[in-house]
Amino acid sequence: MENIDRRNFISTLGGTTFCMGMAGAESIGDNINNNDMFASKEIFKEVKDIVDKTSFVDTHEHLPSESERIANKSNRDKTPAPDMGMLFSHYADSDLQVAGMSDKEYKKLTSWDLSPQEKWRLLAPYYNRCRNTGYLLCVRESIFALYGEEDLNENNCEEISQKIKDDIQPGFYRRILRDVANIEHAQINCLSSGTFRESEPATDLLSFDLSTVGIASSISKIGNLNKFADKPIKTLKQAHETIEHIFERFGPKAIAVKDQSAYGRPLFYENVKDEDIEIIFKQFVQKPSSLKYEELKAIQDNLFRKCLQCATEYKLPVKLHTGYFAGYNGMDLSRVRNNLCDLVPLIKDFPNTTFVLMHISYPYQNELIALCKHYRNVYADMCWSWIIDPASATRFLREFLMAAPASKIFTFGGDYIPVELVPGHARIARKGITLAITQLLQEGWLNESDTPALIQRIMNQNAHETFDLPRVLKAYKA
Ligand SMILES: [Zn+2]
Repeated sequence: MENIDRRNFISTLGGTTFCMGMAGAESIGDNINNNDMFASKEIFKEVKDIVDKTSFVDTHEHLPSESERIANKSNRDKTPAPDMGMLFSHYADSDLQVAGMSDKEYKKLTSWDLSPQEKWRLLAPYYNRCRNTGYLLCVRESIFALYGEEDLNENNCEEISQKIKDDIQPGFYRRILRDVANIEHAQINCLSSGTFRESEPATDLLSFDLSTVGIASSISKIGNLNKFADKPIKTLKQAHETIEHIFERFGPKAIAVKDQSAYGRPLFYENVKDEDIEIIFKQFVQKPSSLKYEELKAIQDNLFRKCLQCATEYKLPVKLHTGYFAGYNGMDLSRVRNNLCDLVPLIKDFPNTTFVLMHISYPYQNELIALCKHYRNVYADMCWSWIIDPASATRFLREFLMAAPASKIFTFGGDYIPVELVPGHARIARKGITLAITQLLQEGWLNESDTPALIQRIMNQNAHETFDLPRVLKAYKA
């Protein structure tokens, strides 16, 4: 985190013809000279300078442990192989496949069987079809940030592949996140370690989310909860006690609760009374497949609300996936459209719970601005959004900052499994933040003297205030 010289910033802006300090005195826009492109560029440059120097707190990644990456470096059973194909293994793969790449071709692209040259020849026609999107832009921005190359091509694919492999060394997460991407800390939602990653402690660099998908919101069999119980669970009361036990065990060490049940069900978590499902619960324990959809949903609703009680008790913010689906050919848009409306009863029933609604609920981000503005306990997280649709994300930030308290937004989460793609995402996010802030200044909506503090707030301060990392680090010392 670098100290921003506010006076320096203001004096430079004051030298332009925009004179934003006058915005309050004149009608908005009067002081804008649209012909003065030089001044416009100057403002962009000044804002960019602050944004580049300001570190992100990254509120959402899926990074596996660094030791796992190192162990898999020569493990031919694990894909993606550590070469240029790996850069297309997360998110970019979806655009490539929607643009025509077959499953078989994609498997070859990430396999150990083809040389980088062969992979390039396989990739090139599909890359051409979708190189315009945020996902593919992120690949290029990452290649630039890490290897100094503008783009991948047949001449550099061997060399970049070699560098990818060589760079997988102890300490490479810290180097890439801190030194390359200027990220001070990243919150990890591990997809492979179930409820909580116990294999490594949280550090100043990484902390971990507690996942409630398998144990509550999308539970499909009692086994997931039994793992944490002293004896096989038979009653709803025992299930609740087990959830309490899980929070007792992991709550102090977790940075937040994370739940992506939106991929499989509506976010309408009804207030299901214990006594109304006690009998169904016993049936669920015996034979979960015998339950009707509504019966299973009632159990999930009840257990997830129990998790929310515990999260609130342990002061854990609750991050919920909302909006767009990862992958391709699978999104139920009518359910996605209802995500935010479905959540309102929960937001009202748990006024002391901090709800962090992820991915700006794309493409329903306007509704998210309304919720953040209206409800004290709702926050917006821009994780993933900068590469889903960079233009919409930029517009969202600009509109959010004119409507809702600036304290209620987190502006970055790479949302990646391969750490190598995080720097590109951070570069795109910084560009979007710079554009949004520059536009607010140019249009006279934002006063230049407020700008440095605002940038700091949305890039890291809000996360420091909402997610209690000192508490987490203390729990590991206890
Ligand atoms: Zn994610």
